[in-house]
Amino acid sequence: MYYINGEWHESDQKEQITNPATLEVIDTISVCGAEETKVAIAAAKEAFKSWKKTTGDQRSAYLSKTVKLMKARVDELAQIITLENGKPLPDAKREVLGAISYLDWYAEEAKRIYGEVLPASHKDKSLMVIKQPVGVCGAITPWNFPLSMITRKLAPALAAGCTVVLKPAMETPLSAIKVFECFHEAGLPKGVVNLVIGPDAEGIGKELTSSTDVRKLTFTGSTFVGKKLVRDSADTMKKVSMELGGHAPYIVFEDADIDLAVEGVMLSKFKNSGQTCISTNRVYAHKSIAEEFAEKLAKRTAELKIGDGLEEGTDVGPLINKKSLDKMKEQVEDAVKNNAKVVTGGNVYDYEDGDGYFFEPTVILNATDDMVIASEETFGPIAPVFTFESEEEIVEKANNTLYGLAAYCYTKNLGRGLRMMKELEFGIIGINDPAPIVIQAPFGGIKESGMGKEGGKFGLEEYLEEKFVSIYEN
Ligand code: NAP
Repeated sequence: MYYINGEWHESDQKEQITNPATLEVIDTISVCGAEETKVAIAAAKEAFKSWKKTTGDQRSAYLSKTVKLMKARVDELAQIITLENGKPLPDAKREVLGAISYLDWYAEEAKRIYGEVLPASHKDKSLMVIKQPVGVCGAITPWNFPLSMITRKLAPALAAGCTVVLKPAMETPLSAIKVFECFHEAGLPKGVVNLVIGPDAEGIGKELTSSTDVRKLTFTGSTFVGKKLVRDSADTMKKVSMELGGHAPYIVFEDADIDLAVEGVMLSKFKNSGQTCISTNRVYAHKSIAEEFAEKLAKRTAELKIGDGLEEGTDVGPLINKKSLDKMKEQVEDAVKNNAKVVTGGNVYDYEDGDGYFFEPTVILNATDDMVIASEETFGPIAPVFTFESEEEIVEKANNTLYGLAAYCYTKNLGRGLRMMKELEFGIIGINDPAPIVIQAPFGGIKESGMGKEGGKFGLEEYLEEKFVSIYEN
């Protein structure tokens, strides 16, 4: 099923959606491709003519209505996320509430889009800056947060007065269908939001990037695909926002609260089976406390319960697909070949003799810079522990990556925390905080982790253009 110009469409081309915990088919859906994307762009272009003229209050009312509808379906939405993505049901529920909160926040922000009056340099002139919606936006989202990545883009776009063509990940389109059902029920005018679902990501992407009618492209996914989309968008000089990969360092100084630091890794490494762009990738423990820290970390990691996300008490669900599972095996094999020691986990997990993509939560000691895991994004439940001896050394090591999304630092020394805040080259820094994400804050990376921000007032600006007006009062 896909949704164009206010209507649901079926086609002869079908795709099966499977549960990564069991490999059972959970649904078979109609899909589309480049041709339908062209039609969706045309519908969004037509709808933009009137949507851009709506008042902030009107757009706010549509978003609030969608919030109400989604709130009534929290359990249903969470169930879908768990079935298609695999994450434990309580985490899926948290994602649904998070997804709703973006719509809620931007329903308010829609009313607060201000321009500015500038001081003139001539006595007979008046100068002002007005803000207007960018236009038709293409949005491409990943599977790891199949609902909240959608609302984090669509809520500010709609609040700003833009219309949208969304392409969700092929692994998790059911969450997207559900949120579009809510948009439909909320009565959004036809063409304002359009959903294209199909396996030809490249073909759909090409339509979105090459169209002169699409004025902005917002993408969350891998750095590899992000770079391609930026290159392809250059010809039509689109505004782009890119939320890409990461390789977060997690630094534990000798003066840190070790237990707190261990619990932080449990959250930032193993939630969502490590499939989060701000997940810890490299744990750096100061040499003097490394042994105690690693022992505690391994003990806590071994306690995690692996299983189907629908089963009560599951801490860690499956990975999304076989490719991810193979990557875990390869990273561990490479680390072991380079003298790392696996202290817990390290293997594919055979869950109930099934075919699901489970990998044991893993802690690796003696990690070194020449291992693949030291530079390649893991996107899975493996925590490699490196050691360091000085603040100067760790700043250099932590920054020695092409990525710049999130970094974590544990210390009780305020001065050191502040120095880290300034020295670490990442867009998001958690100091004694493993979850530095909050709706009012700018979320996004620097370097090859992307450009542009999502969240709060910063996220709204991405969908607005500034227009300067100079008036000569004759
Ligand atoms: P991916 O391969 O880049 O896929 C992401 C999305 O892009 C999917 O919808 C995919 O469609 C689509 N896509 C793939 N190739 C495309 C192309 N040539 N043209 C247009 N669209 C294309 O990423 P992934 O590996 O599934 O997702 C994990 C990555 O996302 C990680 O690197 C992670 O760090 C990053 N991520 C970043 C953030 C952030 O906020 N910075 C948040 C979450 C995830 P199909 O599914 O149909 O292939």
